Amino acid sequence: MLPETLPSMNPQSAKPRITRHPDGIFAVDAEYVRPGYAAVHIIQHNGRAAFVDTGTNHSVPHLLAALEELGIARDAVDYVLLTHIHLDHAGGAGLLCSHLPNARVLIHPRGVAHMVDPSKLVAASQGVYGAEAFRKLYGDVLPVPQDKVVSVTDNYRCDLGGRGLLLIHTPGHALHHYSIVDRKHSAIFSDDTFGLSYRALDTPQGAFIVVTSSPSQFDPDQLSASIDRLMSYEPESIYLMHFSRVTGTPRLAAMLKSQIREFVRIAQESDAQPDAHNSIRTAMMEMWMELLRQQGSTLSPAEVSDWLEGDLELNAQGLVIWMERQRKDRGAPNR
Ligand SMILES: [Zn+2]
Repeated sequence: MLPETLPSMNPQSAKPRITRHPDGIFAVDAEYVRPGYAAVHIIQHNGRAAFVDTGTNHSVPHLLAALEELGIARDAVDYVLLTHIHLDHAGGAGLLCSHLPNARVLIHPRGVAHMVDPSKLVAASQGVYGAEAFRKLYGDVLPVPQDKVVSVTDNYRCDLGGRGLLLIHTPGHALHHYSIVDRKHSAIFSDDTFGLSYRALDTPQGAFIVVTSSPSQFDPDQLSASIDRLMSYEPESIYLMHFSRVTGTPRLAAMLKSQIREFVRIAQESDAQPDAHNSIRTAMMEMWMELLRQQGSTLSPAEVSDWLEGDLELNAQGLVIWMERQRKDRGAPNR
């Protein structure tokens, strides 16, 4: 299901798909992979604005067009909040910042060097996606100028036109991941910490959500603890990059935590198999199909994998890497 016309790379002719949420929050489709797959959020308050993540270089024309459509001047953008530096979230940061004269880019200390000089990050991602797919997905990843970067640690407070945003360290999906708590509006921008929930997979019982264990820093205990920490703020809404707003957060948190336990079981059981990667893929897809059926979904396996195939592959890679790391930690030889 590809869009009828491929997104234009020209800012003048980009047509942003914008979803208007409450409290000055907007989701702009990042036009990554397909519509409805990745959302960059804009928070607007008292004439000032912030981006939560940037998408890729290909997203940037759509983000600039969205600013124009929303009547936000480029010099009114105070912050680019990079929740983590996976390239679907941050690959466009260098390019976007070159259009935003006043924006400071907030990054966890572990991510700063990789955004100022993305060469290692690019090489690692090429390893995950393959060089050809990488080029199509991300193009030339530009560095973020050092003087625009602010290195932010746990509990960093950020003021957006008088709106207080609290940045909390939420490892588990990535070691350097932070989430943004907008306490006054009972909202959290969790990006990948609170999983992935595509609107196309919504069921009669509400949103369907899956854990992301993509390479290479998945840690089940950290992720579970981070989800508990997000829930300690009792958020009404959580905004995900994949894809945007979810509500009914206690139900979703419980689903995520039980999936994390299943991921661990699947990974450990697959460890004894000759092809651990494929055995993880099969077991994970079966689990997701079963959960969808329990939620009243009538989608076929083909329709489900149309949306989840990319995550299934990345999750399997991430779990294999997690098991290797554990073996190393135990001092056991690698397989
Ligand atoms: Zn990620």
